[in-house]
Amino acid sequence: MAKQVSPGVLALRKVVEDVYADAREAKKAGKLVGWSSSKFPCELAAAFDLDVMYPENQAAGIAANRDGEIMCKAAEDLGFDNDICGYARISLAYAAGKRASRKIDLATGEYVINPASGKPLKDENGKVVIDPETGKPKKDPKTMQPYTVLDDIHEIEALPDGREKDLRREAIKPYRQMRMPQPDFVLCCNNICNCMTKWYENIARMCNVPLIMIDIPYNNTVAVDDTNVAYVRAQFDAAIAQLEKLTGKKFDEKKFEAACANANRTAQAWLRVCDYLQYKPAPYSGFDLFNHMADVVTARGRVQAAEAFELLEKDLEEAIKNGTSTTPFPEQYRVMFEGIPCWPKLPNLFKPLKEHGVNVTAVVYAPAFGFVYNNMDEMVRAYYKAPNSVCIEQGVDWREGICKNNKVDGVLVHYNRSCKPWSGYMAEMQRRFTADLGIPCAGFDGDQADPRNFNEAQYETRVQGLVEAMEAKKAKEGNA
Ligand code: SF4
Repeated sequence: MAKQVSPGVLALRKVVEDVYADAREAKKAGKLVGWSSSKFPCELAAAFDLDVMYPENQAAGIAANRDGEIMCKAAEDLGFDNDICGYARISLAYAAGKRASRKIDLATGEYVINPASGKPLKDENGKVVIDPETGKPKKDPKTMQPYTVLDDIHEIEALPDGREKDLRREAIKPYRQMRMPQPDFVLCCNNICNCMTKWYENIARMCNVPLIMIDIPYNNTVAVDDTNVAYVRAQFDAAIAQLEKLTGKKFDEKKFEAACANANRTAQAWLRVCDYLQYKPAPYSGFDLFNHMADVVTARGRVQAAEAFELLEKDLEEAIKNGTSTTPFPEQYRVMFEGIPCWPKLPNLFKPLKEHGVNVTAVVYAPAFGFVYNNMDEMVRAYYKAPNSVCIEQGVDWREGICKNNKVDGVLVHYNRSCKPWSGYMAEMQRRFTADLGIPCAGFDGDQADPRNFNEAQYETRVQGLVEAMEAKKAKEGNA
């Protein structure tokens, strides 16, 4: 039976689909489409009615659609090192025109099906059908997929008009992240990390488009000093002047204020949604939050995003009343998941957690997008607070607050090969917050986008170890 999806979740899905569809339409109509880092102040572009897309969200979607590896390898073939963040590699390959495509037989126009793909065929009793000739399970033909190959839009566009050009255009994988329009300008803010700066400089160079950069440096103190605010405010003014030149329009104060109001309303609703994980048992899982991040990244300045999150709040209120949860198992243990998930391996991440009754009831990544402010200076201060741009004291404080409020029994840390700034200071941070809170913690090696860096056996062993430690702690507390 198809999984029941709540009205809030449906509304959130539509918001993201609309963001991508609007950008495709804008491009077709000859309007400017930009690419932006996820924590660039989107309110500035909204003042000019610009359609903006988000490569980090796109890369996560490509990775979740299992095309992260082919795109990462394409970037490596272009000369980018495989130590660079997987999101950056996927995006750089895409900016260069590389696309994951379905293998097509140009003579017949048919896709070439990969015999290793697909799910086992089941009979009317739900039993797997065995092929009498091979003795192996038969594949359900409806679930089988063509081979994935790499294509290049520049090569395709250079072909003469005709059948091959049409077939190859059509063969590009038909999900929205693989059909995102190329950029006419790029917006970069390095409050996330400095990899971002080089990544966007390279997109601007490869696509020959302007780069609008806002530099928000790493902050060594918990408070954001007034001089830092002045430094970033001046850059907002410079970005506005660049956008005026690019669009030939004047900065529209009213549109800017409307976008700020929407962004604040979205952020507040988003933070309230995150807080529903504090309920015990939780009405949903941190994995659901990861899925909803697409909205807060791509559409936080749109009123529809705020409305969809408010609808989701109502769904969650109802779930609390009815004692239901989207988590398909009884919650025995509650953990904080530290870092970005391994998008290509979500089912593998989920499996041992489900087996051991472990619900992810806290995440650090999601609430980090809740930018709330009342004026321009506060807006600067809000954009200063990204997970990788704050000092270790602030990072420890955030985590201890989330662990306590969300009543976790343990912590699962993703040492993410892609994200050096995050993983680099994680060992010390982990040592400090686990010592302060006295909860067990286990780490595993993985990657948010490149599946070559994840080892399922290691992950399962680490989850098992964490469960044993949480079990022992509970038993000890029970005997005390
Ligand atoms: S913060 Fe980490 S995951 Fe995000 S772009 Fe930078 S290196 Fe990549």
